[in-house]
Amino acid sequence: MQATLRTVLKLQTRQNFRRFQHSYDYDLIVIGGGSGGLATAQEAARLTEKNPKKIAVLDFVKPTPSGSTWGLGGTCVNVGCIPKKLMHQASIVGKTVEDSESYGWNIAQAGPHDWKKLVENVQNHVKSLNFGYRTALRSSRVDYLNMHGRFTDEHTIEAVDRLNNARLITSDKFLIAVGGRPKMLDIPGKEYCITSDDIFNLRKPPGKTLVIGASYVALECAGFLHGLGSDTTVMSRSIFLRGFDQQMAQLVVDHMQGEGVRFIRDSTPIAVEKLEHAKENAFRVTHKHTNGRVTSEDYNTVLMAVGRQAQTSSIGLDSAGVKFNIDTDGKIPVVEESTNVPHIYALGDVITGNTELTPVAIRAGRLLARRLFGGKTEMMDYTTVPTTVFTPLEYSACGMTEEEATNVLGRDNIEVYHTYFTPLEWTLPHRNSDQCYMKCIVGRDDKIVGLHILGPNSGEIMQGFAVAMKAGATMEHLRGTVSIHPTVAEGDECPWWRTEGRAEGWIHVRRD
Ligand code: FAD
Ligand code: NDP
Repeated sequence: MQATLRTVLKLQTRQNFRRFQHSYDYDLIVIGGGSGGLATAQEAARLTEKNPKKIAVLDFVKPTPSGSTWGLGGTCVNVGCIPKKLMHQASIVGKTVEDSESYGWNIAQAGPHDWKKLVENVQNHVKSLNFGYRTALRSSRVDYLNMHGRFTDEHTIEAVDRLNNARLITSDKFLIAVGGRPKMLDIPGKEYCITSDDIFNLRKPPGKTLVIGASYVALECAGFLHGLGSDTTVMSRSIFLRGFDQQMAQLVVDHMQGEGVRFIRDSTPIAVEKLEHAKENAFRVTHKHTNGRVTSEDYNTVLMAVGRQAQTSSIGLDSAGVKFNIDTDGKIPVVEESTNVPHIYALGDVITGNTELTPVAIRAGRLLARRLFGGKTEMMDYTTVPTTVFTPLEYSACGMTEEEATNVLGRDNIEVYHTYFTPLEWTLPHRNSDQCYMKCIVGRDDKIVGLHILGPNSGEIMQGFAVAMKAGATMEHLRGTVSIHPTVAEGDECPWWRTEGRAEGWIHVRRD
């Protein structure tokens, strides 16, 4: 007890001494140069332009087991949103080429897709973004240290570069924005599998691919891989798109299946074996169905997309006294981006109770910087965050799922409106529009509490609706707004239908 007291007093004395001496190397050190970290550092630098503060960003990427590594900018820029959206677009372009004949274009049959060229172009774009971030930091007077940071005490980190040169750096405040990395299933042969950290940089086309997992990353990757010509199978152990409206999730999967993606349901892989004598990379995956049946099949690429782990195990949180979920997802609990240690903050994918999205990390970072250095008080609102799953048919959602609205508001207190629609541009090529669908969930006060759109460009459409929902849009507003015709988003030419109860089992209770 006395020893603990002595340690606390010693720490406090050291802390006060440093404060008194103003002896910290920096005013703010950001650990992690991804979406959240960069946004915070740059906003802090902008706000303190006239009275400069010393700010540093440490960013360090540990190579994947297959050796992939990348530059400044974090997950979104290098192995997330940006390369993913470009590959999604590449597959959409392929579909457009298929459609072009019906529009009178005499384009010869599209040849096989050139994976190498796509990867080269995507990576060149990513590198230009890495360069842009480095230059932006320099012109904002933020020190960029390409080093791994680990706390040694609550005001000091040890920064280590790739050649193992280490130095101690102190700071008044810290932001932990280290994000997450893909998890791997602990099965024999896992070393033959890749993750989303490798797929955007693959030098050779992936060939016949098994994607393990059933959420955002799995379905998006499976979608563009299929669109680019790979024979693609998704292996799921339970439901698709956990956390999303399940009727919509089913439609996403129905559409992918209709396009030719194969699904192995209720199964988990138990072993991956390299086929030594095969000409190409080839792996035998053995998997077990929930009914106990064990089956094997050969693939050229096995991509694990089974969730992500916060990168907190090696950053010395114990030395700084920061609490985190050591035994589970590694995430840090925060209250308004503050950890349990007053001068240490955390945001982005590394915190609990957060939607793991780039704009969420960026906004939380900017608001935090404004509170710390700009005298502002605005807090991050983590509710009603819109999102899009970039599957071949994009699915966008904002607000509650139907399941959530039923649980939270009560079945008797919600109305569900829905509509199937056919995008005009799909008519000439006779594309199947069976899964183009919108659903609007409305509370007792007519306020829209959930909106779900499955259709082309639904991300672009949802952005505008999200603004309206933030402003408190009601069904009456939606109905009373003159539409832009002919668009997918129009609500008037494509009337919102009341649901009376559907075969899938959800029941609608009419108010009138
Ligand atoms: P990150 O961007 O992950 O940045 C953390 C950085 O810290 C990394 O560079 C990491 O290497 C570095 N780091 C870690 N530990 C240390 C350390 N000790 N010292 C120094 N540096 C360290 N979101 C969207 O909004 N839209 C999308 O379309 C989208 N698509 C995605 C697709 C995929 C395949 C994935 C995986 C994610 C996608 N996301 C998307 C999510 C988005 O990328 C993340 O939410 C976002 O990048 C989180 O930002 P962050 O700042 O918390 O962390
Ligand atoms: P999620 O945590 O959302 O999903 C993990 C998936 O892996 C689930 O389908 C899960 O199944 C499955 N899984 C977990 N463990 C196992 C196991 N042992 N065996 C088989 N399957 C398993 O992770 P993601 O990596 O897909 O996405 C992480 C986050 O990144 C998302 O929540 C999102 O915020 C962000 N992101 C955003 C995108 C966008 O904005 N478009 C795109 C991609 C990612 P089960 O449901 O049964 O647990």
